[in-house]
Order: sequence, then C-alpha cells, then structure tokens
Amino acid sequence: MHIQQNISLKSYNTFGIDVKAKHFVSAKSLQDLQEVLSSSAYPNKFILGGGSNMLLTKDIDALVILIDLKGIEVVSQSREHVIVKAYAGENWHEFVLWCLKNNFGGIENLSLIPGNVGSAPIQNIGAYGVELKDVFVSCEAIDLKNRSIRTFNKADCEFDYRESIFKQKLKDTLIITSVTLKLTSSNHKLSTGYGAIANQLQEYNIAQPTIQDISKAVIAIRQSKLPDPKDIGNSGSFFKNPVISKTQFEVLKAQFPTIPSYEVSSTEIKVPAGWLIEQAGFKGKTLGNYGVHKDQALVLVNYGGATGQDILQLARLIQKTVFKIFNISIETEVNII
Ligand SMILES: Cc1cc2nc3c(=O)[nH]c(=O)nc-3n(C[C@H](O)[C@H](O)[C@H](O)COP(=O)(O)OP(=O)(O)OC[C@H]3O[C@@H](n4cnc5c(N)ncnc54)[C@H](O)[C@@H]3O)c2cc1C
Repeated sequence: MHIQQNISLKSYNTFGIDVKAKHFVSAKSLQDLQEVLSSSAYPNKFILGGGSNMLLTKDIDALVILIDLKGIEVVSQSREHVIVKAYAGENWHEFVLWCLKNNFGGIENLSLIPGNVGSAPIQNIGAYGVELKDVFVSCEAIDLKNRSIRTFNKADCEFDYRESIFKQKLKDTLIITSVTLKLTSSNHKLSTGYGAIANQLQEYNIAQPTIQDISKAVIAIRQSKLPDPKDIGNSGSFFKNPVISKTQFEVLKAQFPTIPSYEVSSTEIKVPAGWLIEQAGFKGKTLGNYGVHKDQALVLVNYGGATGQDILQLARLIQKTVFKIFNISIETEVNII
C-alpha cells in the first residue's frame, strides 16, 4: 500500500473543496485495512467514501483512508427473494444498476444517489419514498481501535430519517466494509406513491411499470432537478427537513397559510426545509463563487474556488435567518468536517 503525503482532496469531494490530506491511502481489501489500522505511525484516521456528503472546512491532519473495497455477491436466493452483499467501495448507483440488470427489486427508487455502498447505512439514504432500512439486513465493520470485526443487524443500526447509530453514538469509530440487503427476485413491490414518479411514468405512457421503468423515471427526475456535481460542486440536500410539533405547525400555518407539510405522526409534522429557505430569500442567492442553487433552495453550491468556510458561513446564516422568521432550527444533513 502506498501512503501519499499532502494530497489535495479537491477531486475526492463533490463540493470540489480544495483542502489537503496530510496522509492519504486507498484501501482495496480487508487486508489493506487491517494493515493500515495496525500501524502506529498514523494515530488519527479519517474515512472517505465518495465524498458526496461532506463539507470540508479545513485541511485534514490525519491519514485519510479512501474506502475502495470492491465486490458484489449473491449470498442466497429463493423464488421471491435474494440476499445480496456488496463491499463498501462499490459505487451505490452502479450497484443499483447491477441489481436492476439481475431483476432484483427494492432499491430502484434510490437510483442515482451519489456515493458508495459503505456510506449508505450512515445516513440511511433515502429518496422517493424508499430508505435503505427498508431492504437492509446487516453490515460488517472494522473497529478503528481494536480492529475487531463487528456485524450490525437492522435493529443495531438505530435507523431514522437520514440518521443511524453510525452518525451518532458510533461516529468515527468504525469502517463499514460491506452491506447486505434483502431484495425481491420476483413479485416486486413497487413504490410509486411520489407524484413526480407517477407523472414521469405517465409521460412515458407506462401503466404497469417494471423496477427498471421506475429507475429510469427516478433518474430522469433527479437529472432535471438536481445539479450534477460534475458541473457545479454540491453535496445534495444540505439541510434535513425539520420535524416540528403539530401545535407549533398550527401557529405557523396561521401566520404562513401556504406552508407545505407532511404528517409524520399524530403529533408531528415535517416541513420542507427548501420552502423555509426560499421564503427566507436565499433561493438562487449568489455570493461570488458560491451560493444557493437557483432551482433548489436546499442545495448549496460551489461554482468553483469557494472554501468550505465560505459555504459553512452561508449555511449558518441560512439557519439563523430561518430560525428568526419561523422559530424552526434546521439541521445540516451534510457532515461538516
Ligand atoms: C447531487 C447529490 C444528491 C444526493 N441525493 C441524496 C438523496 O437523494 N438521498 C440521500 O440520502 N442522500 C443524498 N445525497 C447525499 C450522499 O449521496 C449520501 O449521503 C451518500 O450515502 C454519501 O456517500 P459517500 O460515499 O459519498 O460518503 P462520504 O461523503 O464519503 O462520507 C460521509 C460520511 O461517512 C463517513 N464514511 C464514508 N464511508 C464510510 C465507511 N465505509 N465506513 C464508515 N464511515 C464512512 C465519512 O467519514 C463521512 O463522515 C446526495 C448527494 C449529492 C451530491
């Protein structure tokens, strides 16, 4: 394994932020990981996947370990289900395409989410009515301290909306090395409840969609709505949609009658953060080489050359302004490093 020094991470994060890693290594196997973790030369480690859910605000004074473990295996298959294990360094979308090619269903709604398979459990990736937890069986991880191998089943992961134990209690203590999912191999259960998917399928004139059709629809919707990080640096949704009490919602509704909402439970309401940010006047706001995307108020963008600190300050200003107007705290979905 070749450990490099003072490497720019610009091409390793979708925001395109130019910070340096003091040391950098690409781990292609479990053996590589065991070797690098057993070395006492680099006490501080930082784990990097596809770099699509992080805002790098400073140089990383650690050994950055790029997770590059590859491989996809069918563990078992019955008439209706299949258990598939994918290694952490597989690109998520390519894994989705592999499943679709094999007619394995369950993650077609998660098409085109950037990043790696190993990061998918960390924030329980979700889109268009489906979350990773819906198909998740287990994941394997190496403990950064004692190098023991641990297996986490679904209950262990404490999945929630863009949350898991890996983003909370166990943050920065493990490297997820593989993820195992239970998918359908026949009688696929389609999730077409989102209006945008239904509209797209209608446009394609498809009344009885296959999982492949749903993936195609999701890809088309995402490509029309979200900026491609290859063109404009970004990390997808920068903020989570806040969940507030029904009582607070009623007060806001009286003041802002057009406020959109989704019921989460009998006592809680989810409000789209994008709407709050737009109302606060930030949609399309440009501050030199960074800002808020013109069509997506939830997406902060780097037009080229912005620093992580620039974008962090804008994020803080947005949070402060939204709180002042609506008395709602919006949390970041992106990991601030
Ligand atoms: C255009 C765009 C659209 C997006 N749309 C969505 C969406 O619809 N839904 C959604 O949920 N997300 C979305 N995201 C966010 C992002 O794609 C996901 O969160 C993805 O899972 C991040 O994967 P990654 O490999 O890039 O993680 P990274 O950004 O590399 O890492 C994220 C965090 O996990 C840690 N980490 C990475 N790999 C491992 C590992 N193997 N073991 C332990 N820790 C690790 C890192 O240290 C970091 O703290 C979007 C991002 C972009 C840029």
